[in-house]
Amino acid sequence: QQEVPPKQESVDSPPLAGPNVMNVIVVAVECAPWSKTGGLGDVAGALPKALAKRGHRVMVIAPRYGNYSEAKVIGDLKRYKVDGQDMEVTYYHAYIDSVDFVFIDSPIFRHIENDIYGGKREDILKRMILFCKAAVEVPGRVPCGGFCYGDGNLVFIANDWHTSLLPVYLKAYYRDNGFMIYARCVLVIHNIAHQGRGPLDDFSFVDLPHHYLDLFRLYDPVGGEHFNIFAAGLKTADRVVTVSHGYARELKTPEGGWGLHGIINKSDWKFQGIINGIDTHSWNPKFDVHLNFDGYTNYSLETLQTGKAQCKVALQQELGLPVCSDIPIIAFIGRLDHQKGVDLIAEAMHWLVGQNLQLIMLGTGRSDLEDMLRRFESEHQDKVRGWVGFSVKMAHRITAGADILLMPSRFEPCGLNQLYAMMYGTIPVVHAVGGLRDTVQQFDPFNETGLGWTFDRAEANRMIEALGHCLNTYWNYKESWVGLQKRGMMQDLSWDSAAERYEEVLVAAKYQW
Ligand code: ADP
Repeated sequence: QQEVPPKQESVDSPPLAGPNVMNVIVVAVECAPWSKTGGLGDVAGALPKALAKRGHRVMVIAPRYGNYSEAKVIGDLKRYKVDGQDMEVTYYHAYIDSVDFVFIDSPIFRHIENDIYGGKREDILKRMILFCKAAVEVPGRVPCGGFCYGDGNLVFIANDWHTSLLPVYLKAYYRDNGFMIYARCVLVIHNIAHQGRGPLDDFSFVDLPHHYLDLFRLYDPVGGEHFNIFAAGLKTADRVVTVSHGYARELKTPEGGWGLHGIINKSDWKFQGIINGIDTHSWNPKFDVHLNFDGYTNYSLETLQTGKAQCKVALQQELGLPVCSDIPIIAFIGRLDHQKGVDLIAEAMHWLVGQNLQLIMLGTGRSDLEDMLRRFESEHQDKVRGWVGFSVKMAHRITAGADILLMPSRFEPCGLNQLYAMMYGTIPVVHAVGGLRDTVQQFDPFNETGLGWTFDRAEANRMIEALGHCLNTYWNYKESWVGLQKRGMMQDLSWDSAAERYEEVLVAAKYQW
C-alpha cells in the first residue's frame, strides 16, 4: 500500500505536482466536439481539460467514428477477439489543450457518429466489448508524446454501462494475474436507465472466466434474472461517482435505481455525487462562435439587455417567427423521449398557444414525438417552431435568443441545458428532480433570491402553474427578471471545482481501499 498524499492547502487549488501527479484516462463512447448525443459527450470533452489544468497527465479514449483530421495513427495495429471473430484496431492520437486524445479505429465504429447507440443489441454489445478491450491496453501500448502512460499512478474513469466492462477487464485480464496492480478504475453513472441488459447467454460474448458470471447476474421484478453489464461495472469499480447529489440520492431508491439500487446501497462507501461543470468557453455568450454572424451577437453581463435582445430578434428571423422583442420565447432542447417529459409539453400545448408567447423546440428521438413537433409547428405557424434534428449551432442560438428554458424531465441525472441557459441569462423552469433540483433554486420574490422556477411533480398542470408564475414575472416585474438573469450569469459553473472533487475521488481510489 502506498501512502495517502498530503492534502493540498492553497485555497486556489494550484496544480498538483511531483509524485502526486496522476495519470488519468477517461474512457467514453462519446466525446465532444468529435462525437456527442448528450451530456456524456460534453463531460468527456471538458472534464479532462480541467483535470489537466490541475497538473495531471490526462488522456481521453473514444471510438473513431469519422475521419478526425487532427488525429494521426500511433502505435501498432492490434487484433482482438470478439465473439470468436478477429477484429483489427488502429489507434489515432492528437494532443489538444494539454490532453492526449486517443481514438480507437475499427470498421465497426466507422460512420455511426449519428447513431452511436443504434443497431441490433448484439452489435452494440460487440462494439462496447471491442472498445473496452482495446482501451484497457492503451496505457501499455500507445506511446503518447513518445512514451506510454504505464500503470504507475494510473486511474481510469469509465462512463456508463458502455464502458462498465473496463474495470472488469482490468481485473480479469490484469490484476487477477498480478499485472497493473496499482491501476484503479472509477465508474461514473450519467444515466442508470441504460444498463446493457440482455439474456444470461450474453455472457458468452464478453470473454471472461466462468466465475465472473455472477458479477453480471441480476434479478429484478421487471427483467427477471438477466445479464447486466452496469451491475458488473458497479461491483468491480474502485469508486463510483454520479453527476449530481440529487441523483445520488435517487439512485439508492427502487424508483430511481432501476434495479441497481441494491448494488449501489451495498457499495455506499465508494459512491458519491459530483455535480457536472460546463465548458465555460464554448458555452459563454461572450465567446460563443455561433453568435457572431447571421444577425446574432456575443454579449456579456454588461451588454445583456441589448445583446440578448439582438439574439432574440435574430432567432425569430432565422426561424421565421413574428419578430417582436416583447413576446417571451420559451425553449425546449433535448432528446425526445419519456425521460425528458416532452409529452407534458404536448399536454400543455393548448394552454401554451393560448398565451402571448412563442415556443421553440429542438430535438431528436422517438419518431412519434418528432412527428408531434412537426405537427405543432404546422398547426401553430405564428407561435411554435419544432426543429427536428441535432444541431449544436441551433442549440447555442436558441439558448441565447430564448427568455425561458423549459425542462420537464421525469428524471435528470444532472442536466446541462439549464446550466447553459443560466450562463446566457435565460431563465430555467424545471421539474425539481436530480441535478435540476440541485442547480435551480426556486425564485423567492420577497427576498429576490433564486435562479428560476421549479415544480415538484412531472405533471402538466404543475408545469403550467410554474410557467404562469414565470410569465407573470416576465411581464410585470422587470427588475426581478433582470435580477434572476444576472444571478444566473454570475455563477461559477466551470469545471474547476468539480475537477477538484474528481481529484479527491481519484486519490481515494488510488490510496484508500
Ligand atoms: P442528456 O445527456 O440526458 O441527453 P443533458 O442535459 O445532460 O441531457 O445534455 C444534453 C446535451 O445535448 C446538451 O449539450 C444539449 O444542448 C445537447 N442536445 C440535446 N439535444 C440536442 C439537439 N437536438 N441538438 C443539439 N444539441 C442537443
